[in-house]
Amino acid sequence: MRKNNNSKKAFLDSSKIIPGGVNSPVRAFKSVNSLPVFIKKGKGAYIYDLDDNKYIDYIGSWGPMILGHANETVIKSIEKVIKNSTSFGAPTLLETKLAKLIKKNFPSMEKMRMTSSGTEATMSAIRLARGVTNRDKIIKFEGCYHGHVDSLLVKAGSGSATFGVPSSPGIPKDLTKHTFTLKYNNIDDLEKCFIKNANKIACVIIEPIAGNMNCVIPNKKFIKKIRTLCNKYNSLLIFDEVMTGFRVAKGGAQEIYKIKPDITTLGKIVGGGMPVGVFGGKKKYMDQVSPVGPIYHAGTLSGNPAAMSAGIKTIEILSRKNFHKNLEKKLSILMLGLKKSADKYNIPFQINYVGGMFGFFFTEKNNIENFEDVNNCNDKIFQIFFNLMLGKGIYFAPSSFEAGFISSSHTMKDINLTIKAAEESFKILSNYLNSK
Ligand SMILES: *Cc1c(COP(=O)(O)O)cnc(C)c1O
Repeated sequence: MRKNNNSKKAFLDSSKIIPGGVNSPVRAFKSVNSLPVFIKKGKGAYIYDLDDNKYIDYIGSWGPMILGHANETVIKSIEKVIKNSTSFGAPTLLETKLAKLIKKNFPSMEKMRMTSSGTEATMSAIRLARGVTNRDKIIKFEGCYHGHVDSLLVKAGSGSATFGVPSSPGIPKDLTKHTFTLKYNNIDDLEKCFIKNANKIACVIIEPIAGNMNCVIPNKKFIKKIRTLCNKYNSLLIFDEVMTGFRVAKGGAQEIYKIKPDITTLGKIVGGGMPVGVFGGKKKYMDQVSPVGPIYHAGTLSGNPAAMSAGIKTIEILSRKNFHKNLEKKLSILMLGLKKSADKYNIPFQINYVGGMFGFFFTEKNNIENFEDVNNCNDKIFQIFFNLMLGKGIYFAPSSFEAGFISSSHTMKDINLTIKAAEESFKILSNYLNSK
């Protein structure tokens, strides 16, 4: 049995002063009926907890750690920068350097602004879209997460293409009535919504590969249609690539699908594990942002030098030849290995993966298209699988609604150990299922 006395104690203590003991809900391990693991340190593909358990990490801080933990080059660059202070609230050369690096890979981001989180980036992107179109309504898709922005924490009302309702208390209905929440991968719903609300839609915001409802891949026709409809109705298209940017490919999902959004949001990897967000897009829109234009955006720590340098080094390293190709090759071995092991024990199991991002689903349905499909997966089996794997030193996301990530530090040995642990777990699962 995995020891967890120290994590348990730390959790009791933190719960007294931090709601739920954590600073972001998924960390509490509630949806896997377990207790959170308190982390002491990380190196490469591994993290170590307070009880000295070692895990192969497939969360990677929810995406940023594409090089693995404590990459020496990244750490050195941060050290070098912070010797000269951690913040100025004044421009430094690092901001321009990171912006140029981003633009090189995301040509649609002609100009951009730095923020301190992905949430701030999407919030500002929505404000920008509303400001330049002079319209209030926005379209999002069920199962996509864009940070904890009021007008984006919205779930679908009853019936398709109805007004959204707040998914958290504290968000005024007067605000969410401007948000339409549609089904991912459903062209009909989208078209109807545009027709019904012609000239009212400021923007469509989408995770162009959805990583906040496990890992759901868009249908090519669907994602192309969004661009067409946005053009037709003069609405802006926002690709929220906070997760997919530099993760699924160097140029994100927009490179894979060859689609130019009007605005892109980034975060996670572009901060190399430091707090960062970015929103950017067409020059004519970005030049509406203050102080050039009237649309307000600001931030005390925006463009923070330590964060900029971590982002720069991370992007420089992942820009090396075949970085993503190698990542995906390794990931495909892992995913196909998991699938094969599950099949061996007749466990209903599906896989999705792109670049360095993956998802697996306990279901018979082999084409997972939207939130409903993800919801219909067997969460009980997932919970058991998750806890078995954690006990074997494999740290997957503690929720069946989160994507997984691998880093360039994961070795073939790590991959093979993971497959072996999964095979043992599937065996136990199959005994459990047969005994029912
Ligand atoms: C993580 C994430 C966000 C929010 O970023 P934070 O830095 O957590 O605020 C927004 N959009 C997507 C797609 C994300 O994955």
